[in-house]
Amino acid sequence: MALKADVAIVGAGPAGLFAALELAEKSRLKILVVEQGKPPRQRSCPEQLYKGCAKCSPCNVLSGVGGAGTLSSGRLNLRPDIGGNLYPLVGEEEAWKLVEYVDSVFLRYGSPRKLYNPHGPEVEELERKAAAAGVKFIPIPQREIGTDNAPRVIQNFMEDLERKGVRFLLQRKVEGLGKGELTLNGGEKLYAKYILVAPGRSGHSWLAEEARKLGIPTRHEPIDIGVRVEVPAIIMEPVARISRDPKFHIYTEKYDDFVRTFCVNHRGFVCLEVYEEDGMVGVNGHSMESVQSQNTNFAFLVRMGLTEPLEDTTAYGQMIARQVTRLGGGKPIVQRLGDLIRGRRSTWDRVEKGNVEPTLKTVTPGDIAMALPHRIVTDIIEGLEKLDKVIPGVASPSTLLYAPEVKFSANRIYTNKDLETPVEGLFVAGDGAGLSRGIVTAAATGIIAARGILKKEGLPA
Ligand SMILES: Cc1cc2nc3c(=O)[nH]c(=O)nc-3n(C[C@H](O)[C@H](O)[C@H](O)COP(=O)(O)OP(=O)(O)OC[C@H]3O[C@@H](n4cnc5c(N)ncnc54)[C@H](O)[C@@H]3O)c2cc1C
Repeated sequence: MALKADVAIVGAGPAGLFAALELAEKSRLKILVVEQGKPPRQRSCPEQLYKGCAKCSPCNVLSGVGGAGTLSSGRLNLRPDIGGNLYPLVGEEEAWKLVEYVDSVFLRYGSPRKLYNPHGPEVEELERKAAAAGVKFIPIPQREIGTDNAPRVIQNFMEDLERKGVRFLLQRKVEGLGKGELTLNGGEKLYAKYILVAPGRSGHSWLAEEARKLGIPTRHEPIDIGVRVEVPAIIMEPVARISRDPKFHIYTEKYDDFVRTFCVNHRGFVCLEVYEEDGMVGVNGHSMESVQSQNTNFAFLVRMGLTEPLEDTTAYGQMIARQVTRLGGGKPIVQRLGDLIRGRRSTWDRVEKGNVEPTLKTVTPGDIAMALPHRIVTDIIEGLEKLDKVIPGVASPSTLLYAPEVKFSANRIYTNKDLETPVEGLFVAGDGAGLSRGIVTAAATGIIAARGILKKEGLPA
């Protein structure tokens, strides 16, 4: 027998969960969330170690209730223009209200109350120092759920939704999208008046393909390509005291490219990402309260937009990541910055001589210059040298660089302001639709789409 619901939500990441909450609290609609992954408690590292091992590092437990990074560091960037941009969608005032509301919901479900809110003379001094080096420091209020707390917070969220009548269909994959209907793996049909698709970055290619079949226009967005940098934690201590995830924006001299720090994990771990489709590898990072390392890692990313003849930024990013995977013998490449600048490969012997012990061991010491385009390598070296003027020691010869770190951008799916596509009743939200790039913004777009559905039902949003 076919499944039925008033609203079917595809994906139980922040976008899907917050959409379900909004609908459950403001309507009597029957809501069914379809999620291909597992419940939160079954997704965590069995030994609670999260030491970047290939098998159970959080980066490899991406799918499931809670979505991608929520079960990683779960860092909430409490600004509407970080991790996407909510201003064009709802305007400045409403965007801030949404961010505050998302934060309050995470607090309700048990997120730690500690708020990192950079302000005061120390911040002014950092801003001044950065400006003098041609670097922009972006102060952002942040809260960190933490890898060890996240499964509990998401479990509380899910249980509350279930109490409010939301049903979950777990470990079922949606394979086809249509007007008012979904096709699940095994061919089973699910009929719903409204469908909200929030499949995250892992589902973005699938969503783009389904949109193409349905005649919904899409647009390629710029991609971020670079490395994960690892330095001794002591070097980052002064800025980590000011901001949990300090964000620095830099324009490079030679190419005038935009380079930024992203996802800083103070006393954290670098971890391995393996893309299911073809074994292509990448790196990421995470941190937690209970287990700490002696290092700090952060992504250092170059933004690349493409025009004709190759507009497909995903294809470009995959090409690069596959090349690195190949050169690294199926593992990411690690190199000391000093070796990269001197034009020689790193070896385990050279890495061991440096003063940064890698927190990810499933890597091949090698030469990043053989694998990443010259423009990106130049941007990374120039960018780190500028950043070194703000954080002395960041560009030391023994600084470790892991490649590839690629932040794929989903195609932006064409929608109206309520995030409804040209197919009536079909809404999209979150990273998979190119609407967000972070937990808070993804959650906010889920709420916007849910309010679009409420509006169509004539209910107050
Ligand atoms: C390792 C890592 C760490 C991160 N850390 C942070 C951080 O600290 N702070 C931050 O703001 N952002 C972080 N991010 C980014 C953040 O996780 C995402 O921006 C956010 O989770 C996007 O939410 P979403 O709901 O759009 O998608 P997702 O969270 O990706 O959720 C989508 C869900 O849909 C499911 N799904 C996909 N396709 C289908 C299908 N066909 N059928 C059924 N289910 C499907 C997936 O299994 C997934 O659970 C991190 C990302 C990663 C990978």
